[in-house]
Order: sequence, then C-alpha cells, then structure tokens
Amino acid sequence: MEFSSKLLENAVNEVAMLPGIGKRTAMRLVLHLLKQPSEQTQLLTEALTKMRNEIIYCQNCHNISDNTICEICNNTTRDHSIVCVVEDVRDVMAIENTRMYKGIYHVLGGKISPIEGISPSQLNIISLVEKVKQQKVSEIIFALSSTMEGDTTNFYIFKQIKEFNINVSTIARGISVGDELEYADEVTLGRSLLHRIPFESSIKSM
Ligand SMILES: [Zn+2]
Repeated sequence: MEFSSKLLENAVNEVAMLPGIGKRTAMRLVLHLLKQPSEQTQLLTEALTKMRNEIIYCQNCHNISDNTICEICNNTTRDHSIVCVVEDVRDVMAIENTRMYKGIYHVLGGKISPIEGISPSQLNIISLVEKVKQQKVSEIIFALSSTMEGDTTNFYIFKQIKEFNINVSTIARGISVGDELEYADEVTLGRSLLHRIPFESSIKSM
C-alpha cells in the first residue's frame, strides 16, 4: 500500500494491529474518522486511553471492573460458595446474560497452551487453589471452552483441588467440542450450566 501521507500511514498501521483487521479495513476506518468532526476522534482516543489506564481487575475473581472488588463479588445475594471458572471477561458476560447462574466467578485470564507459550504460572490459578484451600468454596464449576487447551486447563486445576473434597463439575457439553463459550446462545449455555456433570465422570468419557 502506497501512502500519500506519513500521518495516514501511521494511523492505518496502528489500527491494522488490532485482531481481525487487515490493512484495507484499517484504511476504511481511518478515512471514515477523517470525514467526521475531529471531536469524534478525540472521544474515541480518550475512551480508549481512559479504559487502558484506569481499568482494574477484581482482587477476588480477576474480572474486569471499575473497582477493586467487582459488582458480582460485592453482591451479597449471590452464593459465594459456588465458583464458576472461566477463561476471560467475555465468558462472564455470556453466562450473566443467561440469568441462570447465581454463584460467583474466577477468571483465569486464558488457557494453558504450550503452542502459544501460555504456562499455568501466567494464569490466575494459584489464587483459585488458595480459595479452595481456605475452604471458602463448596463447588467449582469448570466453564472453559471444550477445546484441547480447555480440557488441559481443567485437568491441571482438578489435580490440585481434588484432595480438598469439594464438588467439582463441568458444564454439560450442550456446547459442542471446540466451541467457544461466548458464541453459545443463551438458552444452550444456561442449560449446560444447569445440567452440569461431575468433572470426574466427564474425564472418564474422554
Ligand atoms: Zn469479582
């Protein structure tokens, strides 16, 4: 792509760094912004900068939050002894949309993936095991996507918590193998939470 302006080229290159956005789309977005009043670009950059600088992760569940403890963890009407383990904030939003879950969450921040170089130490696993050790939890529900990385992560955590004698379950595989949670429709996702199965019987069938 030949650019008539270095400023334009820089802007396009930055936008094209975002996942799923090629140079052509980046060009279209940048040209769109150029046609809008400059305040529009200012609002966009301010929102992004503020989000990046000020966002906080909940100290209890690692969910993205505006406060040190998120609204879900702060809600005393929820059952704090049931912890649903998810990959990231998108999964929390997907499960919340089902309105069928009244426990709290634990956001891992990813899945164990040797291929992508993600090791257990890079995820929020120690704090989860700690919660179980401190007997704050009666049930752990694994709600990771049913991919190889999801299964590996479930099993890794299960090995560390099984001695503590709590219920460990996994969402029913109404969600087909390889599916990402956030793409499941609300009814399917809600049902797979309700019909969760003991984790140990899920690994026997693997
Ligand atoms: Zn929280």
